[in-house]
This record gives sequence, structure tokens and C-alpha cells, in this order.
Amino acid sequence: MATTTKTGAKTAPAKAESATKKSEKSVAKPKNKTGKMEDSEFHKFFVDELKDIYWAEKHLAKALPKFKKAATSPELAATFDKHTAETQSHVETLDQIFGLLDEKASAKKCEAMAGLLEEAEGIIEETEEGTMIRDAGLILAAQKVEHYEIATYGTLKVFAENMGHTEVANLLAQTLENEKATDVALTEVAENFINQNAASE
Ligand code: FE
Ligand code: FE
Repeated sequence: MATTTKTGAKTAPAKAESATKKSEKSVAKPKNKTGKMEDSEFHKFFVDELKDIYWAEKHLAKALPKFKKAATSPELAATFDKHTAETQSHVETLDQIFGLLDEKASAKKCEAMAGLLEEAEGIIEETEEGTMIRDAGLILAAQKVEHYEIATYGTLKVFAENMGHTEVANLLAQTLENEKATDVALTEVAENFINQNAASE
């Protein structure tokens, strides 16, 4: 990602001898009231990406009850129920993060989540109600969502750390761990009985 280059360029020590003098000037933090990075391009990019995952979580929270309704096994339905509540808490965590950053909590359409949810609806349409193939398909769709969230929170957490937003980084890390746990829970449900039963249908 371009950010790696940006970060690298900022942190890479200058090699030339004259760079010592130069760095005293150029390494100075961006000038703003807090002396932090709030006005930097990277910070703006970070906030924009937070708005993206905010949209994603909000729409996922609305979609999960549909997943639950479509599920065949009560075990999978319960997993979706639990994840609906957790997803709502992810939205609240993001509200808290926007507050800490003194930014307005607003959502920006996440094309990736929109596509993943569309795909999930397609799976529901294409599979027969009351079958384990339906559940296997729902797990596939849900795990794609979890992996997208894991990638997003993992990166955003590192961004927050790089910018010195420790509290924000800790909150993002909490959500990240929760997403990983959901992914594991979905794998367990699939391996317990769904895949095997789906194979014999
Ligand atoms: Fe989430
Ligand atoms: Fe999730």
C-alpha cells in the first residue's frame, strides 16, 4: 500500500551527513494546535477508512438477522444471533473512536461489504431452505465477511499505533480479537456437523 511508502519515507533515517541538520527541520511534527498528526494526509486517510468500516459494520448488523432466519441448524442461527449483538458493539466502539479523534461519526459506503452481503443474498437464493448446503453456504459467506473485517481492523490498528493514537489502537485491537473469535466459532460449527451433512445431502 502507498501508506507503507509514506510511513517508510517519514521514518527512514537520512543517510547523508548533511541530513542531521536537515532532519532537525524536516522531522518537525506537522504544525497544528495539538502538535499531533490530526491535519496530516495520513490521518485523513485513516479517518476515511474508519468511515468505511463504520458503514460496513452498520450494514452487517442489519444483514445478520437475515442470515439467522435463513439458517437451517439452530447452532448456526445462535452463532449469527451472537454475532449480531457483537456487530452492534463494533458500531458503538467506532462511535467511541470517532469521539476520541474528535471526528464526526459518519459512514462512507464500503463497496467491499456491499459486495459480500450481495453475495450472501445470492447464496440464500441459490440454496434450498432447510438444507445443510444452505448452512455451509451461509458459513462461507460469513467467513468471507469476517476475513474482510480482520484485514481491515488489523491494518487500522497498526495505522493508529503509527500515529500515536494508543487508546484508539487498543479499541481496534479489541474488535480485531472479537472478529477472529467469530471466525473460529464459524469454523467450529462448520466442522462439527454442517459440512459432513451437506456432503451427504
Ligand atoms: Fe465487526
Ligand atoms: Fe464480524
